[in-house]
Amino acid sequence: MNLKKIIPLILPLLWGSMVFSQVPKEPKLILQITVDQLRGDLPTKYMKNMGEGGFRYLLEQGIWYTNAHYGHANTETVVGHTILATGADPSINGMIANVWYDREKGKLVYNIEDEDYKILSDNADVDKSTELDASQDIASVEGRSPKNIMVTTFSDELFLKTNGKSKVFGVSVKDRGAVTLAGHTGKAFWFSKSNGEFITSTYYYEEYPEWVNNWNKQNIPAKIFSGKAWELMNDKSTYMYGEEDNMPWETDVAGFGITFPHEYKTSENKYFTNFLTYSPAGDDITLDFAKALVKNEEMGKDEITDYLSISFSSTDYVGHLFGQSSLEAEDNMLRLDKTLANLFAFIDKEVGLENTLIVLSADHGGPEAPGYLKSKGIESGFVSPDKWDKEPAIEALKKKFGIGQELIQEFFPPYLYLNEKIIAEKGLSLEEVEKAVAFELMKIKGIALAVSSYSLQKNELADTYLNRKALRNFNATRSGNLLILFQPQYSINDYMGEKTSANHGGPWMYDSYVPVIFAGMHLKKQRISRKIEPKDIVSTLSNLMGTKPPSGADGEVLQEIVK
Ligand SMILES: [Zn+2]
Repeated sequence: MNLKKIIPLILPLLWGSMVFSQVPKEPKLILQITVDQLRGDLPTKYMKNMGEGGFRYLLEQGIWYTNAHYGHANTETVVGHTILATGADPSINGMIANVWYDREKGKLVYNIEDEDYKILSDNADVDKSTELDASQDIASVEGRSPKNIMVTTFSDELFLKTNGKSKVFGVSVKDRGAVTLAGHTGKAFWFSKSNGEFITSTYYYEEYPEWVNNWNKQNIPAKIFSGKAWELMNDKSTYMYGEEDNMPWETDVAGFGITFPHEYKTSENKYFTNFLTYSPAGDDITLDFAKALVKNEEMGKDEITDYLSISFSSTDYVGHLFGQSSLEAEDNMLRLDKTLANLFAFIDKEVGLENTLIVLSADHGGPEAPGYLKSKGIESGFVSPDKWDKEPAIEALKKKFGIGQELIQEFFPPYLYLNEKIIAEKGLSLEEVEKAVAFELMKIKGIALAVSSYSLQKNELADTYLNRKALRNFNATRSGNLLILFQPQYSINDYMGEKTSANHGGPWMYDSYVPVIFAGMHLKKQRISRKIEPKDIVSTLSNLMGTKPPSGADGEVLQEIVK
């Protein structure tokens, strides 16, 4: 080919790169937003009643991946958040469940509990008498840290790239929503329902920054919400579920009620702070604290890229209590849209959206409430694991193995732990018992898969949809003897005596489906229907920022973002 032919070909390329180089290459701020339980269809479901600047901004000016699915089995909060932070599967990052059984300690442990790093405030530990988050309730030690996360996060890599000059923060109502994304090198703050303040642990600070003390001293949650109620934002007739507020499958927790208005009661009421988290008020408080953080820590003010993660928890609690097809969930979505619009306007003023790379996703999707589905003629239900040990088939197995006591020691979804002590005492093969129990459990209505850890470790399973997800969730040091997955539309609704309307955590589409949206900077509107995974976010961010990939990140780089 001669030069005359080549020049017209390369000129547009050169010109294109010249135009591109005028745009700042690196953002001043990366804002990673996680909306807990935001199923992929929810941002657009109520679009006609949404305002400007929130989801509409993301839809009209962002790059929206409309077919993003998690590929692991246990779609729970800490699992999803850790994937969004590390880009690694739970098998690699170690965060396989909100709660697992620690055989050395001989007890169930909460994912980020760490007795070495106490909470920095007094009276801020989980209050077991009012805490209704069942996995939070398991925590038996007061401290918190990211130590259980076995790999680095994107935020860690950004921090390391700049030798600590990048500021890294994570904020959420939930401790596990903040700690995961702040990584090992950032700072995390979360909301204590016990003292109504944003707190941290000694892993991060020896004492609170002055601005945190100031925020807490203002007592903002009580000032705004004491004596108030969660009321509908708009006229009831404008809602899709306006006529369906009072539904029998909804959960009335501690008097919060199943119809509007939901009274927060006064700040003296022992459930006051819990009620705030069950409603959009939890997100309002989170936003207010995050704004104070951005201002006081001077996020995005210089040329070195800072990182802020905000995880909004209200959508999850609302989904659990009322189901995602409810008047509460609908109003929550409209209010979340407003919260996002408020956040984006604030960031635009402080940092400039053209200097900010926003990425929004969710830690998992969420099911419809079984009660709601049944009312529409779709089979759905709950399973009761506490009865499994007494199932005739399991009783028969125990007889065969000569076991007189309980064989199933613990079940905390999705893992089942066998009584290994008695199995060893009887001289039985653990592998044989695991496989026999799995075989019998598969006959119980509602169970789609019971798979033994031996089968997963030996890779002796067929390459099926569920087995692939089971493998990606399996970590030899933390997974139980058996992984149990329920049939579509089946879940458990009784976690240690606490009942809810709907529970996620399964491998099916409604639980794996989440939005992935990038916006800000130089990005132009695109809708991408190619199937991607949320872990691709991390590989994309590290590629874009020129960090090394986090230790376990094996996602794809999303070309629409980096080109
Ligand atoms: Zn969650």
